Amino acid sequence: MMDLKCLVAESAFISRSRAKATGTVCIDPDTGIIVANGATDLDSFLTTGDRLVTPGLVDSHTHLVFAGDRADEFYRRARGDTYADIAREGGGILRTMTATRAASEDELFELGRARLVRLLDAGTTTVEVKSGYGLTDKDELKQLRAIRRLAADFPGQVVATYMGAHAVPPEWKGRAGGYLKRCSELIATIAADGLAEFVDIFVDPLAFSRDDCDCVVQATFDAGLKLKLHGDEFGDDGTAAWGAGLGATSIDHLGGISPDGIDALAGSATVATLLPGTMFFSAHGRFAPARAMLDSGCTVALATDLNPGSSHVYSLPLVMTLAALRMGMTAQECLDACTVNGAKALGKQHLVGALDPGMRADIVVWDCTRLDELPYHAGANLARDVIAGGKVVKRDGVWLGW
Ligand SMILES: [Zn+2]
Repeated sequence: MMDLKCLVAESAFISRSRAKATGTVCIDPDTGIIVANGATDLDSFLTTGDRLVTPGLVDSHTHLVFAGDRADEFYRRARGDTYADIAREGGGILRTMTATRAASEDELFELGRARLVRLLDAGTTTVEVKSGYGLTDKDELKQLRAIRRLAADFPGQVVATYMGAHAVPPEWKGRAGGYLKRCSELIATIAADGLAEFVDIFVDPLAFSRDDCDCVVQATFDAGLKLKLHGDEFGDDGTAAWGAGLGATSIDHLGGISPDGIDALAGSATVATLLPGTMFFSAHGRFAPARAMLDSGCTVALATDLNPGSSHVYSLPLVMTLAALRMGMTAQECLDACTVNGAKALGKQHLVGALDPGMRADIVVWDCTRLDELPYHAGANLARDVIAGGKVVKRDGVWLGW
């Protein structure tokens, strides 16, 4: 036992049970796994003083592997142009598709790695990453291979999602059903190569109808993969109830969810993943009714939706600020949404999102003493010490890297 590293957490740490305790987290340095908490007789390697200690944050919805940027669209939207105006002129997802198709796998890896550094520096240790900017078999597989390399490189966890059903590519214009059939045929290959754990579909009148999605849903489950949906984003399309009935692991966005949809999610194991950064950044759509969802018993996660168009937002603490300010969530609900519930949205609650024995040593020491300070410090990076998989990547506010 004397070989173990030991984090003295004199402040509160939050475990799976949501109980707050003062104590010590002990990490096996060989495996990066927590082996005990509550012990006090081991050498200290990081004294936290009076600071808040939490599990590393879980960002369960990002699109961070992409090439190019859309800064000009950001300023156009701010001046009043709509997302639809911009898309009609060749902007939006298809513009990122063009840049991503032109990029090599190596370039996508480097671009993704730089973004993961920013996330980790702000306290995020588990990151879901979707494909969906290639939109051909070849380019989707290229994106997924880049994500796999990021997963091997990153000291935290990267979880891959295939999202060919992100937009109808120009080659399939007017033939969304045919394109989805093509996507469904690729899923077995992706599963066989271990390139993704999840499949995600943008279910929306602007993207894909539920009827057209059936083949993708079937192929997902046939291949043993898990399902996520972008749903009920701008209005009530009935996607929440439909997805909960299918056993989707999460349904994301939900700005337009109906009371029936809320009831369906509350009575299911499906996680409601809310993305207030997208409303903030794109000023399009509505903030999801988080209060009603929480009060009904839904499991609510928060994520950044990091992407170059509608949510160029990297910081989960900033997302917590928005959730508190605009959706009425408490600080504890915000933290749960970015830890244990984010882990559930990825099916990884046995591994990340809490500081219990047997879980990964993904830990953040924050430069504050109370949990309610975290959403309150809008835009500040309070992550003082960051440990990912037992490795200290940031100490005393200084980035060490990995
Ligand atoms: Zn998204």
